[in-house]
Amino acid sequence: MIRSVTCSECLDHVSHCHGTLIVDTVGVECTDPACADLDMARHALVVARTLTPA
Ligand SMILES: [Zn+2]
Ligand SMILES: [Zn+2]
Repeated sequence: MIRSVTCSECLDHVSHCHGTLIVDTVGVECTDPACADLDMARHALVVARTLTPA
């Protein structure tokens, strides 16, 4: 997907992702289905989803 907004990491050709990394108790997933590597360092947006005890 080509975005009109350019980011500095894109200009620097740094391997990164524009999706949101969701860290769950059972694993890690990304909102970008084309995400190549689920590494926190590649994501500017990281959300921790923890289960709240009932
Ligand atoms: Zn970028
Ligand atoms: Zn990603």
